[in-house]
Amino acid sequence: MSLNQESFQEFREVIRQLGETVQPVEGLTDNERVRRAKQVFLTRVHSAMAMDLETCIHCGMCAEACHFYAQTKNPKYTPILKVEPLRQYYRRELGPHRWLFKLVSRDITAKMLEEWQELVYDSCTECGRCSMICPMGINVSAMISVVRQAVAEAGYMPAELRAVEKEQNEKGTTFGAGPNELKAALQKMREDGVDVSIDKDKADVMVLISGFGINITQDALLATVKIMNHLGVNWTIRTDAYECAHFGMLSGREQTLRNSTQRVINAAISCGAKTVVTGECGYGYTALRWEGARRYGKPLPFTVMSISEFLGQQLQAGRLRVRKVPQQKSVTFHDPCKVGRIGGVFEEPRALLNALGVELREMADPVQTNWCCGGGGGVFLNNRAAPLRQAAFESKRSAVVETGAESVVVSCDSCRMTFEIGKANAHWEIPIESLVVLVGENLAD
Ligand code: SF4
Ligand code: SF4
Repeated sequence: MSLNQESFQEFREVIRQLGETVQPVEGLTDNERVRRAKQVFLTRVHSAMAMDLETCIHCGMCAEACHFYAQTKNPKYTPILKVEPLRQYYRRELGPHRWLFKLVSRDITAKMLEEWQELVYDSCTECGRCSMICPMGINVSAMISVVRQAVAEAGYMPAELRAVEKEQNEKGTTFGAGPNELKAALQKMREDGVDVSIDKDKADVMVLISGFGINITQDALLATVKIMNHLGVNWTIRTDAYECAHFGMLSGREQTLRNSTQRVINAAISCGAKTVVTGECGYGYTALRWEGARRYGKPLPFTVMSISEFLGQQLQAGRLRVRKVPQQKSVTFHDPCKVGRIGGVFEEPRALLNALGVELREMADPVQTNWCCGGGGGVFLNNRAAPLRQAAFESKRSAVVETGAESVVVSCDSCRMTFEIGKANAHWEIPIESLVVLVGENLAD
């Protein structure tokens, strides 16, 4: 089974019109926009970030690390420049020499925040590659996400992200994939003879999926259900908290992120889950695994794992049994930045591919610095960013082509969409496969 092309094409049409479904942010004065941005900076800057803002030696290495710069050679896409509003604010209002900078530097303006919208939303996927390459250990990517939040609060978020963020904030859904649509998708599986564990009061493992899984990547949803049944664990999908995607994180709207995170935490606690498994969604994993406790205010009472990590561990424990894929083939694996570079999950997906008997051809770069696909951070939804995204995708495409692999395996819905869109634009004939689907289709009897 592969991506439902009809649903995928419909989804692309939805994206094209997404921006028209929300009204522009109006009624904010320039002063109010700047005030809101500064409030974000004030609350988000901490001592480590202050150190990062002080220690840049302007070596420019982060530029070469960024696929947007690497493919365009436009200096405005240098990662550290993307944090300029934050740096300017810090120097004038928080840094040790603020009295001097107040005299010799300009304050940030609404115009500046508007201009920076393109730099933090269209030309940054928050992939973290620049942070990893920086010789000073500066976490550039983390600072860019703070600027994103400030720009969003100032009312300059791209309309497409605002549309989905608004939907998730108000309804708890993304792309119209609500509990009824989820139930219908699962009911269809039941009619096809698949046992589905839904809304259990008590379960050891709670599985999250994304709205994409209901609308487009139904193959991954079906595979997930089959795999969980195969493992024989007490698991469930909850219709009150199944959404893995976090458009509050993609858009920079903290309140939306907080609400969606809390919904998942509440459901997991209510069913007594010991483990929450995030489906093939990089941001869903990051939001809960690395930032969930901060928003909850204390340690999470359950373990969070990405599905590739969970399945790798189940394989090692002998509970997951797979057969070799029927036709020996060569594949390369694309690590989703949020799960790989940020989350450190590299070995488990490779162990799964090894068990499936495929020939894994690694890309030339070390896994930690593998190129991003160019669509993370909501860039794949941003119509204005389409040409830039396609340019950035070229870094990934070249790395894949060099391997000579017959197909690309991915483990993130957003990466999967970006690859599908990118390969269509580039007239590139190569299958893009989901890791979960590959496992689900090759379960041992
Ligand atoms: S690589 Fe680090 S030190 Fe060099 S310019 Fe970029 S942020 Fe500054
Ligand atoms: S996080 Fe990734 S996309 Fe963003 S500036 Fe750094 S390297 Fe570029």
